[in-house]
Amino acid sequence: HIEASIPEPQREAWLRHQAGGFKDQDGFEREVVRHVETTLARSLYNCDESAAYSATALAFRDRLILEWNRTQQRQTFADSKRVYYLSLEFLMGRALDNAMLNVGQKDLAKAGLSDLGFRIEDVIQQEHDAALGNGGLGRLAACFLDSLASLNYPAWGYGLRYRYGIFKQEIIDGYQVEVPDYWLDFNPWEFPRHDVTVDIQFYGNVEKKTNDAGKTVCHWEAGETVKAVAYDVPIPGYATPTTNNLRLWSSKAASGEFDFQKFNSGDYESSVADQQRAETISAVLYPNDNLDRGKELRLKQQYFWVAASLYDIVRRFKKTNRSWKEFPEQVAIQLNDTHPTLAIVELQRILIDLEGLEWDEAWNIVVNTFGYTNHTVLPEALEKWSVPLIQHLLPRHLQIIYDINLYFLQTVERQFPDDREILRDVSIIEESQPKMIRMAFLAIVGSHKVNGVAELHSDLIKTTIFKDFVRIFGPDKFTNVTNGITPRRWLHQANPRLSELIASKTGGHGFLTDLTALNKLELHVNDKAFRKEWAEIKYANKVRLAKHIKATTGVTVNPAALFDVQVKRIHEYKRQQMNIFGAIHRYLALKAMTPEERQKQLPRVSIFGGKAAPGYWMAKQIIHLINSVGAVVNNDKEIGDLLKVVFLEDYNVSKAEMIIPASDISEHISTAGTEASGTSNMKFVLNGGLIIGTCDGANIEITREIDESNIFLFGHLSEEVEELRHTHLYGEHVVDPKLAAVFAEIEKGTFGNPQDFAGMVSAVREHGDYYLVSDDFSSYVDSHAAVDEAYRDQEGWVTKCITSVARMGFFSSDRCINEYAEEIWNVEPLKVEA
Ligand code: PLP
Repeated sequence: HIEASIPEPQREAWLRHQAGGFKDQDGFEREVVRHVETTLARSLYNCDESAAYSATALAFRDRLILEWNRTQQRQTFADSKRVYYLSLEFLMGRALDNAMLNVGQKDLAKAGLSDLGFRIEDVIQQEHDAALGNGGLGRLAACFLDSLASLNYPAWGYGLRYRYGIFKQEIIDGYQVEVPDYWLDFNPWEFPRHDVTVDIQFYGNVEKKTNDAGKTVCHWEAGETVKAVAYDVPIPGYATPTTNNLRLWSSKAASGEFDFQKFNSGDYESSVADQQRAETISAVLYPNDNLDRGKELRLKQQYFWVAASLYDIVRRFKKTNRSWKEFPEQVAIQLNDTHPTLAIVELQRILIDLEGLEWDEAWNIVVNTFGYTNHTVLPEALEKWSVPLIQHLLPRHLQIIYDINLYFLQTVERQFPDDREILRDVSIIEESQPKMIRMAFLAIVGSHKVNGVAELHSDLIKTTIFKDFVRIFGPDKFTNVTNGITPRRWLHQANPRLSELIASKTGGHGFLTDLTALNKLELHVNDKAFRKEWAEIKYANKVRLAKHIKATTGVTVNPAALFDVQVKRIHEYKRQQMNIFGAIHRYLALKAMTPEERQKQLPRVSIFGGKAAPGYWMAKQIIHLINSVGAVVNNDKEIGDLLKVVFLEDYNVSKAEMIIPASDISEHISTAGTEASGTSNMKFVLNGGLIIGTCDGANIEITREIDESNIFLFGHLSEEVEELRHTHLYGEHVVDPKLAAVFAEIEKGTFGNPQDFAGMVSAVREHGDYYLVSDDFSSYVDSHAAVDEAYRDQEGWVTKCITSVARMGFFSSDRCINEYAEEIWNVEPLKVEA
């Protein structure tokens, strides 16, 4: 069928010479050597690990691109509905190991590399992370791409090709220092498509014009045009030939050249200014996690990316010669948070201004095409754009937004004729000074489904920030899809020994495509040899992490100690401050003990990691306190191995793959109701670590699945938070006495100049303790005592770990993608032969 697209007379020649990619070890080695010699132009005689990585990556890339081509042809011929996942962040991490495992050729590559004189582990370590994201939201998008391909859904991701991803974090004298992350020097995984470009317009003004059909339409005369160039990244599915596409847009000056006229007249600097201005759009990822700053360049990024993506999607649809009303039957677009909300407005503009559809017909198409995923209820993270800014940058879009709002409010008025308040409360335009556009409201009005990312979170959005929209649209428009993670990367790749052990007890690697098969592990929970190997694997992972800690921080930690890990973005709502206050409390308790008492204590290593947004002063203060406490505690001879506190620099996906399998207990301790889901909580449990956490986000569903006897829960519930905050401000607020003792120690100067940490202390003591650190402190400390107690019983601990892993099947991103496909996108996988 596909071959028929080549004209008959040429078909035989094309097929005879078709590229195949390597088929066996010998072929692989040949490809590696060829790439070293020709593509990399390196001599065989001085090939180092970096060149070996590059050549191996290129050999795999060649294979992937062949499957990529076939997949695209297959999907085009099948002509079925496609999913487009729009995300401003894709936190992909490394690609080589994942590619080798997904195409099932890692053993072959290992043997081949060994034949050529390299250890595969060292070669894999050469790769630079693709870090085009901040944290959970971007990593979720990456897990979803893996699941979409592995489940054979026809799906594309669309994002921005930032020249600089999230900054590299260095810790200097205990402080975070940001270093640019230039990652594109050598990136074998992307294919520039210089022939796939879109001109994107900004600024200018809008005029009414009569079109060829005699109809009055709005014409946007742009003031600036920038070119979007496509870069494609192949996304291989696991154990399937399906290789989907992630298309990232890069910005370039529309003319592609600098201004020769200016150059010739001697104005050298401004001759390149247009080019630089254009390239700035895709230059850097904004490093804020859960914070909206409303900067013009960010808005430009958003429009640039959605306009290019929609142009591409519409172009693909038009090739099928279908009528417009079939668009939602062929195209599902998912908005990962509100960042791509302008896509709703852009599609409406294309349909009414460029394609000549009537408003209502166009709007019907738009709403049936889009789905919107909400990721937060934190007020500081809800996106708003000022009306004057949009007016200036996107004048036609502002008109359309006003019309969308007008028609929407008219229906609301008909529905609630006597309710003036609801009109003000749900208006897409906030009547502030200046007026602001509430992007989440626009996303709700322009989508057919809105989902939260864990049950508690989905309930909260329906009862708090979006409650009026539930009255207007009814409850069925709002749904929940609890987040998930790909077991390929987060178990098989990150923890190969555990994956093999599980395979040996569950009848093979089927759990990697049906994670519920993990439940078979429960049958083996009392199997002595299995338990022993389970514990040995955890220990080996801890030894590896201990080596990394030694190499990067100089601190020696005992792998037999309890490893207590909190790695995630540094944020007050995630409460790393509570964790470090808890570590100080532990230190003080140890110091107060007699040597005999101390001997009975369990050694512990408190491990932290995570980046602070560069402008987030309090988060940076938290990092500084962690390092300052470490400097004191780690050098206290009296304490020795009983407590170590370390901060691991530059937390990213590849570090996560090493840290997570080495954890005994990890901390997911956000103030109840603030963490939408969390996904690292799932990764830690899947890797045989237990968690200490609050009743927040997906912790609640993890508890439901693994049973509350296997998790350390503490703290106030989300329904109590509002009242507590109110009491702090207007009633009596007494700091918990244990916490007060911690503050007193900080203020004594034990950990350096108390002024350096005054903000953290006063946030709790003087400024209302918004995150309830004091309210939860005592139950947090008690819960840690329960962790110690449970860990002393190693047999009981291992039972808890095995049982928990066995019950984690629900948290696969495959389950999530199937839920989106069924409930939101209405798409089917495309059957292919493995
Ligand atoms: N950052 C990185 C590098 C990650 O790998 C992950 C998840 O694994 C996250 C952030 C999200 O972590 P959390 O769910 O704890 O916020």
